[in-house]
Amino acid sequence: MCGIIGYIGKREAQTILLNGLKMLEYRGYDSAGMAVLSRKRIDVVKREGKIRGLAKKLRARPLGGNAGISHTRWATHGRPNRVNAHPHLDCKGELAVVHNGIIENYAELKESLIREGHKFRSETDTEVIVHLIEKFYKQKGVPIEEAVRKAAAKLEGSFAIGVISKREPKKLVGARISV
Ligand code: GLU
Repeated sequence: MCGIIGYIGKREAQTILLNGLKMLEYRGYDSAGMAVLSRKRIDVVKREGKIRGLAKKLRARPLGGNAGISHTRWATHGRPNRVNAHPHLDCKGELAVVHNGIIENYAELKESLIREGHKFRSETDTEVIVHLIEKFYKQKGVPIEEAVRKAAAKLEGSFAIGVISKREPKKLVGARISV
């Protein structure tokens, strides 16, 4: 079982996210990563292997910001490597998503999103979530929580997600669907 940690508040997100990941470590994972929102930019660091490897990378290049999401992955779709590690970004790097679980209808969704022009970078089922949110978020006046709700309605399976958007830096959205 992998895990998700999210933080938004006044403190440095990186420290809280990293400590949270360490607490989830006992559950097992093959890779880990985090995305932190700073002055309207989303920075991502991810790594195959142990959290101490991620921590080392973050020490060399800290992510400043007060909101973020992090993840330990146990691969179900796509090899356990850095590219497939979460968070995943939309085409423009405006949204970041972490995900626990499986999207059962990801293949059909991926095919139609590619037809609509979305560019995929990973082999995961997860990446359809962020592109689907991106698609609904493009509609004028749709707040991030509404775009997430619309995307979740298209997804089949049991899962939990965490989402941040650089367009709405004061929000962190979480959603859980169980069937
Ligand atoms: N199905 C997703 C993946 O393979 C999430 C796996 C997990 O829950 O860690 O990336």
